[in-house]
Amino acid sequence: MTSRRSFIQIIPLAGALALCARSALAADTPAVDPKDPQAAALGYVTEANKADTAKFPKYAAGQVCSGCQLYSGKLGDATGPCAIFAGKHVAAKGWCSAYTKKA
Ligand code: SF4
Repeated sequence: MTSRRSFIQIIPLAGALALCARSALAADTPAVDPKDPQAAALGYVTEANKADTAKFPKYAAGQVCSGCQLYSGKLGDATGPCAIFAGKHVAAKGWCSAYTKKA
């Protein structure tokens, strides 16, 4: 039988394990290579301030993947999923020409 005290001791352990599992999953997800044909066509860069503004004049300072409607990463994470690049992660500080400001 699990006592209340041992149950309370289990909760932080379960939380720590969940965080580890989440980190491991994120680490296993490949990053989008800016040289991939689809990424290159969209002008994807891992650092938004390195966007090719001659080719993609749509870019404006302050636009980053973490502020894009298509980004579903967690706040504070360095990378996260993007609806355009299924199965891969983009840099939270990245950018591409499909940028759409979060509502
Ligand atoms: S669509 Fe948005 S989140 Fe995806 S790479 Fe482009 S700017 Fe980043």
